Amino acid sequence: MSDKSAEGLDRRDFLIASIASVGASAVLAGSAGPAKAEDTSASSGSAASGASHGTVYTGDVMQGKKVVSALDVKDLEPGKKHLLYFQGVQAPTGQHWYVSVIVAKGAKPGKRFTLTSGVHGDEMSSIRTVQTVMDQLDPTVMSGTVMAVLDIARPALESMQRRWPNSGRGIDLIDMNREWPGNENGATATSRHAGILFNRLLKPNSDLAIDFHTGTTGLECDAFIIGDRTLPDVKTMIDLFPVGLVWDNAAYPGVLHNAFVDAGIPSFCPEVGAARVLDPALIPNFVEGTMNVLKHYGVIDGPVGRTAADVDAFIANSAFPILATQGGFVEHLAKLNDMVTAGQKVVVQRNAFGEVVAEYASAVDGKVGAIRSDVSSEPGNVLMFISFSHAPTEGDGDYPE
Ligand SMILES: [Zn+2]
Repeated sequence: MSDKSAEGLDRRDFLIASIASVGASAVLAGSAGPAKAEDTSASSGSAASGASHGTVYTGDVMQGKKVVSALDVKDLEPGKKHLLYFQGVQAPTGQHWYVSVIVAKGAKPGKRFTLTSGVHGDEMSSIRTVQTVMDQLDPTVMSGTVMAVLDIARPALESMQRRWPNSGRGIDLIDMNREWPGNENGATATSRHAGILFNRLLKPNSDLAIDFHTGTTGLECDAFIIGDRTLPDVKTMIDLFPVGLVWDNAAYPGVLHNAFVDAGIPSFCPEVGAARVLDPALIPNFVEGTMNVLKHYGVIDGPVGRTAADVDAFIANSAFPILATQGGFVEHLAKLNDMVTAGQKVVVQRNAFGEVVAEYASAVDGKVGAIRSDVSSEPGNVLMFISFSHAPTEGDGDYPE
């Protein structure tokens, strides 16, 4: 993954160099760097160079909401909620993808939290979790700011699919949660959208951040949290969630919560159950956890509710994947959240005659964290993830989507 990042940076530098060298874009070549690349259509008053762009209103109003192409929450009136559209990258027909932003700007100063969802387009309970938190906030009595960015991978959300349909070579499907922090001059719209959002919206307005997800289509899972608990603020926040399974793992570069961490903004990733559906049983636990975090950091008042300690959370640092070796029809012999032991048979697979073609056993003692929801499977698919802990010296384990 680090190779990929390096390649991305090289390509951006190459593009900047080549555009400047042919003089194709005086705006780009003469500006303060890559941040200007998307600004050529925005008129004056656009982003200045440097870390903070200030707030830039494009002058557009869409469905009653003002459109911004850069935001600094300092510019917003305190004690109010602000509903805005943030102007992302352009679609193939030339309009922009607009992202929905809610800012609850407290009457008094304090920590600035960012809550994100919709980086994957098939993840619904995460969006509803963030909406519910925002509904419960009263900025007139808050000390600090909570910004929600709800529908980040807009084109993926339009078709209820995990990945962004990029028009580069027909339709390439790009996983936006491998693109962060993005690149405003990147080789795909997905990378550019990530870069625009990260540089002009997310990073400048965040002291701490939580990136909400769910499992992915085809993989049934319960509530869990991914985050690196060796980071003090990340551990503090994770332990304030009444969620029963934690993957204590840094995961890998390219995911949004790690881009935040790399930028000095503590962050982690709650996973609110399965994809495509609203899970009314799980959402309240994540809302409660988020409100606990906001109370702990003094943004809102009130007693902290249930935490990880109250639900006896199972902390694992890895996930053992069971991968299909055959095509065929799958039957799980262990259910979600079952405890299993090394050597225990957990999946059986049959061909169309009903003959058993493969049997799969766990190699570890652990807890079933996710199972394939489609019964049929090609070779190579994940049939089950079993969360477990290994010694730190054994390196990082596998990581579920
Ligand atoms: Zn996701």
